[in-house]
Amino acid sequence: MMDKQTALEMLKNATPKTTKTEEVLLDSALGRVLAADVLADMDAPPFFRSAMDGYAFRSEDVPEGGGVIQVAGLVAAGEVFEGSVDPGFCVKIMTGAPVPDGLDAVQMVEKTESQDGGTVMILESCRPGQNIAPKGQDMIEGEVVLRRSTTIRPIEIGMLATLGQAKVEVFCQPKVTVLATGDELVAPGMGRPGPGQIRESNGSMLAAQVRALGLGIDADFAGIIADTKEATRGAIEANMDADVLILSGGVSMGDFDYVHHELIERGLEVLIQSVAIKPGKPLLFGRLTRPDGSFVWVFGLPGNPVSSFCTFELFVRPFLRGLLGLQAPHTLELRVPLVQEIRGKSIPRTQHLPARIHVGAEGLSVTQVPWHGSGDLRGLLDANGFIVIEAGAVMPGPGDLVAVVLTEPETFRLPAHLSRFEA
Ligand code: AMP
Ligand code: MG
Repeated sequence: MMDKQTALEMLKNATPKTTKTEEVLLDSALGRVLAADVLADMDAPPFFRSAMDGYAFRSEDVPEGGGVIQVAGLVAAGEVFEGSVDPGFCVKIMTGAPVPDGLDAVQMVEKTESQDGGTVMILESCRPGQNIAPKGQDMIEGEVVLRRSTTIRPIEIGMLATLGQAKVEVFCQPKVTVLATGDELVAPGMGRPGPGQIRESNGSMLAAQVRALGLGIDADFAGIIADTKEATRGAIEANMDADVLILSGGVSMGDFDYVHHELIERGLEVLIQSVAIKPGKPLLFGRLTRPDGSFVWVFGLPGNPVSSFCTFELFVRPFLRGLLGLQAPHTLELRVPLVQEIRGKSIPRTQHLPARIHVGAEGLSVTQVPWHGSGDLRGLLDANGFIVIEAGAVMPGPGDLVAVVLTEPETFRLPAHLSRFEA
């Protein structure tokens, strides 16, 4: 059995970096990962820009206590003042308009009084440069503004638009397919489970976890596979077009767990098999080779819903992020003071206990949520992370700092009843 750290190292070293890129329209680029640096195509601001509605003049023309000055004209945003402004003159100027050559200050309109005879009283003097955004202050033409391997958030969309990018070069998405195994499973919508049956939950949940990465990767839940060799083999064969195949269930030691066996039969190169974690010990990771030599990366996740959820967050998440060339860390791990004693004892595996991270006036704190083991998805509803207890570690007590992994850090949310600050 591999320890968690070794398994994560192994996963990291095995993760290939996607090199295929494609061009997408800016409006479809949210969540995608930039495949090339993006440079400034011009200075920003592109000219000395007025930051205020007011009057532009030479700072030396207005004495400390203010003064009256002749108005030579007006310049609005989108216009350029024709000609030059003689010493002793000012122009009325709007926010965003280019400051005419030779002028070095803008006084806001609120600190002026317009007067008869084409003059204005500037009530307060200005220092040179006041209320003017200098040309090239934000970026210089040719400068790298957005780096390759950046995730495109709304702010990057705005920046890309600023840089004139109507189309964006991004990494291609992997094709991700999810399969659930289990004779006992009844899909939602297929009626009430009969005797001995339970509802299938992992297929849709794992596909949603892929989407929740916020990288624009879609995942296809391709259905439930019966616990037979033939069905398992057939499903693997039918999904060899996936770049990443996530199977739930059937990887343990039960009499009808065929996933491991059939993957090996199909030539799986095993990279991780059985990790000293709880939940999730039977985790399997490896790769199948297609006839053309390319790989199908395969995760076999244990079927208990909490195990599936947790092993996705710990292993599949970093794999998919790494595939798109994103930099570590892929999981957000914090050290947070524990509020209450932990129920449970130290074991020779790294434990992940569903937990609730509170945001209080004093900062963060964490409590374990009540749950009944890895079949209890309901208990996980109140959790927004897992307390990590290292293999063999002394159990922490109240006030101790414990490691906490946030689940879905991209969409970190407090459970509904905690969505206000607590004292
Ligand atoms: P397995 O890993 O196949 O041995 O399954 C472990 C436990 O998880 C069993 O109790 C299964 O009934 C349950 N289980 C497996 N797959 C799913 C699934 N897709 N949805 C809900 N429960 C599942
Ligand atoms: Mg099963």
